[in-house]
Amino acid sequence: MGNYKIALIPGDGIGPEVISPAVDVLVALADKFGHSFTYIPLEAGGCAVDRYGKPLPEGVLETVRECHALLLGAVGGPKWDTLPGNRRPEQALLALRKGLGVFANLRPAILLPQLRDACPLKEAILAGPPADNSPKGRTGTAAGFDLLIVRELTGGLYFGRRGRSAGGNSAFDTETYSRKEIDRVLRVGFDAARRRRRKVTVVDKANVLESSRLWREVAKDVMQEYPDITTDFLYVDNAAMQLISSPGQFDVIITSNLFGDILSDEASVLTGSIGMLPSASLGPGGEAGSRFGIYEPIHGSAPDIANKDMANPLGTILSAAMMLRYSLGLEQEALTVERAVNAVLDSGLRTADIARRDKTTGGQNERLVGTGEMGAAVIRALN
Ligand code: NAD
Repeated sequence: MGNYKIALIPGDGIGPEVISPAVDVLVALADKFGHSFTYIPLEAGGCAVDRYGKPLPEGVLETVRECHALLLGAVGGPKWDTLPGNRRPEQALLALRKGLGVFANLRPAILLPQLRDACPLKEAILAGPPADNSPKGRTGTAAGFDLLIVRELTGGLYFGRRGRSAGGNSAFDTETYSRKEIDRVLRVGFDAARRRRRKVTVVDKANVLESSRLWREVAKDVMQEYPDITTDFLYVDNAAMQLISSPGQFDVIITSNLFGDILSDEASVLTGSIGMLPSASLGPGGEAGSRFGIYEPIHGSAPDIANKDMANPLGTILSAAMMLRYSLGLEQEALTVERAVNAVLDSGLRTADIARRDKTTGGQNERLVGTGEMGAAVIRALN
């Protein structure tokens, strides 16, 4: 039994439509497990520009800081595209990430057996990984892949010194990392591996870059504290190849901001379903499982399908499951939500974006449902 405060920012477009079923799932789950969740609804993004003239109104950041976690839908849309930079909805996300100090971005990429046909890889590759490392259990995936990319989010090339020469004909960006920045994100990744299949791959470019050599040095120190985890190292060029030639070998990949940006997009496309994918951005915290985090689906506000009851809410519901695991320390509850999502897909329910993807049945056992019905089915499947 726990008392937790959860900030909610539904945002724009399909944001409110996907947050609503995710909250319904949390309400049902809290009831089932005897927890008390308090929800603090807040406005940010385009809707806040309309109402308050700015994407992140006064006081929102401070209110979120008092919560255990933030569950966010999506922000933005064509209506606000012509606004000057500092008034654009995306500024709210950047200000929240900066203000809340979230430095580790976690992006799972799971190939669910029910959506196997959506994966652009050949069946022979998906059947691939050796038995001792084949993803099993959490998602019921018999083979394929179930990996987690942990990307450093607030350092490296995207935040380093940059500039142009006087004439503008040469330019530079700098990759700078401190031991502390590397150490804290590695620990998030190693802790995550302890809840999974206990394998970490540190991805760098240590054959060329000095900053990568520091990553490796620090990783070799940190891995001593995790003797139960198998750790290996890969150069990023090799990792990019291995992701498409043998994705089942990976459990947790930990890497820098730049490499993580690229590899996490590569991995997400392998799952073939943007509406299904959750993410977490974690900040400093005490015990593993009690870090503050921002949880959001990886998709945007999808204005093309907003208000049509067509949005897939599963990416947001799975983001809520990550919140239970990483910020509230409720592993059993997180698994319950993940299994419910799996069961609903097994039963053949599909939103439009994931319909007719099941090669084995040719989509014959599928039933097309809207956002609300999909959310309600997940609640029924919580057991
Ligand atoms: P998008 O992710 O919103 O949509 C891309 C495509 O995927 C669209 O065809 C959309 O219909 C579909 N899609 C996305 N989520 C879906 C879901 N849950 N169910 C079914 N289909 C889904 O990306 P975009 O079109 O490039 O961006 C739209 C707006 O969202 C822009 O204003 C962009 O700036 C913003 N955006 C916000 C975030 C965020 O809030 N984190 C992230 C990306 C984009």
